[in-house]
Amino acid sequence: MASAPRGHREGPFRPQPSPSLPLPSRPRSPSVGLSSISVSSRSVDRGQPTALAARLARGVQRSFLERRPTGGDGSRSSVRARAVPAPLAGSRPSPGLVAGRRVLRCPLPARGGAPRGGRRRATLWPRGPSPPGSARSRGARALPRKRGEMLCARRLGGLRAGLRVRRVSTGWSPVGAAFTVQPQGRRLDWFGERGGLFGVPELSAPEGFRVAQEKALRRTEQLVQRVCATPPGPQTVLIFDELSDSLCRVADLADFVKIAHPEAAFREAAEEACRSIGTMVEKLNTNVELYQSLQRLLADKKLVDSLDPETRRVAELFMFDFEISGIHLDREKRKRAVDLNVKILDLSSAFLMGTHLPNTIEKRLLPEGIRHHFELAGDHAVVDSLRAEAPDDLVREAAYKIFLYPNAGQLKRLEELLSSRDLLAKLVGYPTYSHRALQGTIAQSPETVMEFLEKLSDKLSERTMKDFEMIRGMKMKLNPQNSADSPPLDHQESPEELMPWDPPYYSGLIRAERFNIEPGLYCPFFSLGACMEGLSLLFNRLLGVSLYGEQPVKGEVWSEDVRKLAVVHESEGLLGYIYCDFFQRADKPHQDCHFTIRGGRLKEDGDYQLPVVVLMLNLPHSSRNLPTLLTPGMMENLFHEMGHAMHSMLGRTRYQHVTGTRCPTDFAEVPSILMEYFANDYRVVHQFARHYQTGQSLPRNMVSRLCESKKVCAAADMQLQVFYAALDQIYHGKHPLRSSTTDILRDTQERFYGLPYVPNTAWQLRFSHLVGYGAKYYSYLMSRAVASMVWRECFRQDPFNRAAGERYRREMLAHGGGREPMLMVQGMLQKRPSIDDFVNTLVSDLDLDFETFLMDST
Ligand SMILES: [Zn+2]
Repeated sequence: MASAPRGHREGPFRPQPSPSLPLPSRPRSPSVGLSSISVSSRSVDRGQPTALAARLARGVQRSFLERRPTGGDGSRSSVRARAVPAPLAGSRPSPGLVAGRRVLRCPLPARGGAPRGGRRRATLWPRGPSPPGSARSRGARALPRKRGEMLCARRLGGLRAGLRVRRVSTGWSPVGAAFTVQPQGRRLDWFGERGGLFGVPELSAPEGFRVAQEKALRRTEQLVQRVCATPPGPQTVLIFDELSDSLCRVADLADFVKIAHPEAAFREAAEEACRSIGTMVEKLNTNVELYQSLQRLLADKKLVDSLDPETRRVAELFMFDFEISGIHLDREKRKRAVDLNVKILDLSSAFLMGTHLPNTIEKRLLPEGIRHHFELAGDHAVVDSLRAEAPDDLVREAAYKIFLYPNAGQLKRLEELLSSRDLLAKLVGYPTYSHRALQGTIAQSPETVMEFLEKLSDKLSERTMKDFEMIRGMKMKLNPQNSADSPPLDHQESPEELMPWDPPYYSGLIRAERFNIEPGLYCPFFSLGACMEGLSLLFNRLLGVSLYGEQPVKGEVWSEDVRKLAVVHESEGLLGYIYCDFFQRADKPHQDCHFTIRGGRLKEDGDYQLPVVVLMLNLPHSSRNLPTLLTPGMMENLFHEMGHAMHSMLGRTRYQHVTGTRCPTDFAEVPSILMEYFANDYRVVHQFARHYQTGQSLPRNMVSRLCESKKVCAAADMQLQVFYAALDQIYHGKHPLRSSTTDILRDTQERFYGLPYVPNTAWQLRFSHLVGYGAKYYSYLMSRAVASMVWRECFRQDPFNRAAGERYRREMLAHGGGREPMLMVQGMLQKRPSIDDFVNTLVSDLDLDFETFLMDST
């Protein structure tokens, strides 16, 4: 299908703000000439792609939402028109069926900078701390196992002894070299026999998708018959998982290909495969016989007690997801559940699309002096973001008020979405949508989430006030016109008041003024090759795992610059593959993501199906004289995404349904955020950060100052996240809501943030994460709390502590989503953390490190 130009100013969805739009008309102080100061920005989105389209079961809600077409025609172009992760075009809604998580993308953009995703966008946007292979298959199976053998890491320990190290020595190169060699130096062999994408033989041409999907569908039918004929027992769960695997292996791969492949024919074939698998999934999710086979198992207490914990958990997860389609209800209610699911999916797509649409306003309504800051189309100015980093107060204010001006259609969509979710949750037996969404998470219940947010908010408030004071001080200092003796004309707020459009910009200035962090000074020390070597070295010392470059065969990768990494354990051999799609490419989605392409699982023949993932970044290419150099933010993002990848690689779950990152949302970011702590530790950075020309190490005080700079105004940033998370909880809590979503926004903002609500704005209509993270927006904060505790308890003293690394693998990474998350946390920390522990660790992360000050002052 034709690809539309980026941007979304055309089309029927263009909103027309009413002429009474309240606008700033008094030109304020001119910009202060500091616009060139760069705020530490992560320009990317960390994604968590959880993959999948057709997993039997879990995350139904969420994955469905993510899978729905976003444009009227579900076209790829409509997906691409957004800078923020969008749902991918996909199958028709399968009323309450299957599916799992898909792409792991963090909900929060980086702190202090542009939100992840595409161009720098403004900042009241949710912000967060800073917003297969052909494998030469000879070596591809590290641990042949007996059928049915449990694959948790504890067992691995026992199995390891006496195992030969199975390395594939041919074709593996040091990981750094794989990223420093020029593409022309490693041109693929275009003359050999052409293999298929990701080593799947059928996928050497787009037509192969049809073959692969038909094969998967045939296999599915066989498995459905088998499971229905099998007496209830552990075998039931195994077959369910295989069923899910046969669909996911096509759907996950196709989900990725349809957004990332440079060739339209591949994208379209992948899209079609997604659709056809989606249809199958829809059928399966409403297949009563299939449901009953699982129900028979779970209804037999004796049988259930005899299952090992992972098998039991997976059975329950399948069941949990089945039930959202109302399959267990009587006919009439089941129909209602199906209808509600369809409605929710449609509303979600429409709402999501609305979150990104620009608002336009008659040009004449804008103060003349700032018109040139906006794109003009005829008589109108187009405002497509909050412009939070614009130096001119007036530009930010105008952008804020116009971009957030309420749109009646969008408001209605949101209200209907929230109430439909509530109805569905009640129909399937939960008091609120939030109760359903939080089942199985670390938090477990909405009450715990609110307790966490309230305590965190209280504990932060004093620091936040100080941050606001500091920001206000900067505002006054730079714009004396804003002082009290310059009375407001048409503004409701007094000019010296801090407004929601101020903190991102001024906190960036304070950071720059105080620490003078110039990314350009850091980049030469962070060549991509050096960073990859650093990661490999870290994993090696902590976990006995190394990364190697492996030459893909012809046809295996979708772009010549994609690198394939083999992840190899020192005694267990090959653990899996990471395809690194790291470089910018025309039309490539602009976000950092982790995609599961194939989940790990123990196969019936005793082999372990190795996990395969893709990491997608948007780094500049190297040139003849210059390697790819990363800013500190990009380096941290790389570490973060590699944290997700290692979660996938080191998981050794028996079932692919819970492979690696397919775990509860509030646990999924723990491994990746933990990697950020390593990326900010001098002892780690020192190992790899070398000037690409001189070989000089990155000076210690540069690392310390970088770390300290991130704490500037960090309390205010975190407070903002708390506000968003609380808003999300309230919206998904008790219904009917006590007042309009806008009134709730105003009250919640006052209670949890502290800066005044601006009349005639409705930020919630831009809160796209309400769709994908409904009732779980708090996850990132909670994951950060856990990661911080793990860092403090286990690695802060020695970031290369092998015993701690092994424990980390054994207690957390190995289980994927196969174990209750709190049990994993408890196993790792050797105590069960309380909500107060979470709050305290987050807050103490904001403390300044006096050593740095001492060092700087000497
Ligand atoms: Zn992430």
